[in-house]
Amino acid sequence: MYNDLKAFAENHNVTLVAVSKTKPVEAIRALYDLGQRDFGENKVQEMVEKQSQLPADIRWHLIGHLQKNKVKYIAPFVAMIHAVDSLELLTTIQNQAIKNNRQIPVLIQFHIADETTKFGLSYDEAEAIFEEIQKNPMPELIIAGVMGMATFTEDKAQIKAEFQQLKKYFDTIKAKYFANDPEFIHISMGMSGDYPIAVEAGATMIRIGSAIFGFRD
Ligand SMILES: *Cc1c(COP(=O)(O)O)cnc(C)c1O
Repeated sequence: MYNDLKAFAENHNVTLVAVSKTKPVEAIRALYDLGQRDFGENKVQEMVEKQSQLPADIRWHLIGHLQKNKVKYIAPFVAMIHAVDSLELLTTIQNQAIKNNRQIPVLIQFHIADETTKFGLSYDEAEAIFEEIQKNPMPELIIAGVMGMATFTEDKAQIKAEFQQLKKYFDTIKAKYFANDPEFIHISMGMSGDYPIAVEAGATMIRIGSAIFGFRD
């Protein structure tokens, strides 16, 4: 399954993030040996533990909700933080980037699903943050794009509409705030159950766990 996904991602020019949460380092190492370099984790402690045991050229993506007080543990090495949904969190990441003398790429998470439990910003909330950043730039942050999760449903039309919504948000924000920024390029959307729909709607990064590693407990 991995080789099919890898070929799919290459053919569609999207980044495949292999979501290795709950899986042992041996499983990551096996994929690494096949050439995979982008891995996603949703818990800080798990990511830190795995990072210390695996090759340094792995690009670690934090894809889950991130608490401000945990940013410091991943700031030295994280390749991208996908689920940023507040100005306070952006400010914390900016401060940790300064401390570590590096830039940290982040994605702004939008709420596109109909379930009330999922994290993420409305369009208006996101725009307020972009206005604030325009006034007070955070040069150590690389705002690399947007991220979202569709509703967990069998209704493909609904999933498609939600991904298209995120693409629209991306286009609008790009035109308004990042027109001349070559780094605002990413739309992280699509998981094992819905990635073909996401790519059709314009995803540049897909986050795939169970379709690569098998089901999680
Ligand atoms: C677990 C997870 C994924 C991968 O889910 P699968 O359905 O196993 O592919 C993608 N994105 C986020 C944010 C996740 O937490």
